[in-house]
Amino acid sequence: MRFEISKVLDAIEGRVCTDPSLARAVLDLAEVIRYQDIDGGRPASLLRLGMVIDALSRELEEDSVQVYAVVHRALLSDADLTSNERMVVRRWADDGLVEVLDNPGDRMLEVADLLGLPVLSRVRFDGLRGRFPWLVEQPGRVVAPVPGAGGPVFIAHVGGGHAPVAGKRSPTGMKLLARQWRCPESGCALFGGGGGGGAFADLAGGADRSPAAQPPPSLRNGVPTCPRHGARLGDGGPRPRTEVLAVRVGGLVRRRFVLSEEQPVVAGRAPEQEGGIMLGQWLNDEARRWISRGHVRFELRVGEVIVTDVSTNGSGIRPAGSMNEADRIPLAPQQSRVLGENDMVELYPGVQIGRAEELPTGAPFTPTSVMAEAPTMAMRLPRP
Ligand SMILES: [Zn+2]
Repeated sequence: MRFEISKVLDAIEGRVCTDPSLARAVLDLAEVIRYQDIDGGRPASLLRLGMVIDALSRELEEDSVQVYAVVHRALLSDADLTSNERMVVRRWADDGLVEVLDNPGDRMLEVADLLGLPVLSRVRFDGLRGRFPWLVEQPGRVVAPVPGAGGPVFIAHVGGGHAPVAGKRSPTGMKLLARQWRCPESGCALFGGGGGGGAFADLAGGADRSPAAQPPPSLRNGVPTCPRHGARLGDGGPRPRTEVLAVRVGGLVRRRFVLSEEQPVVAGRAPEQEGGIMLGQWLNDEARRWISRGHVRFELRVGEVIVTDVSTNGSGIRPAGSMNEADRIPLAPQQSRVLGENDMVELYPGVQIGRAEELPTGAPFTPTSVMAEAPTMAMRLPRP
């Protein structure tokens, strides 16, 4: 059983991030792990994070949905967690996958405000409605995970909606995310690395973090500050531009990925390139035979997405997402093309990649549970 739980925690690890382009909601880990009513189990359990992520995935009708978790530092030594769970959370903290804070305070709402994300919380935040007007104006921006028949479901605090609703990045958020930032604290997992980190930057945690993936700084008295270390951040120059692309297979959005100006991304059955997007696990036999290991390469150049076929069999472009065969433009091996705003590239019938906001799930959706490896005990749900 212990082995299975480790596998679940590994799966959950792939669903926490502090990347502003990929996070789809923000939550406070200390709160979520204590939702004892969703499984009737121990006072605190990290598996509840997986259940809430699954619920979000169901609501957004997408697989591989990621959440931005803020974590009170006390949680790293919380005796209600197992030693294994504490170790896992510490690893996430060291890798910058979660944001560890001495005092989370309003940080969860600040992140939601800067990034335009929904908040998954049972807290009502009545005293903060002046500072964050969207708490009242946008029903669904804060939804509470509560027990449901097939796992947690969401209910809104304000208004009748219950699906989590994303807003827009605030003007301050856009400004902060146009720059890259440097924390003076050595080995800062959130704002270290990516050049300019000093002679030992390579040894520091988070050294391989792309500046395009840095979280939003915290604003303290108008000064960009490291939320972890409370230190004033240095401006490291403009942040590389990014575009979020999504992979849709058989009508379901399977994952998103970030394309930045810094480096191209290859997608295919099993790309050899670092950072490649592997599709093999979602393909049937015919698709697997057709699609090359590395099939298409994406580059972001002066704001345009360039797609180049690097396969043996070629691909096609579906302009404006048209599923009409007559509209499909063939993309021969080695041929390149600018991907129009609503275009998607089709590697094989039903295997498509395009801009995430233009590529909704178009089929009845059954998400792959992050809890797939969970022992049945952990999945026992109370009957209402
Ligand atoms: Zn720092």
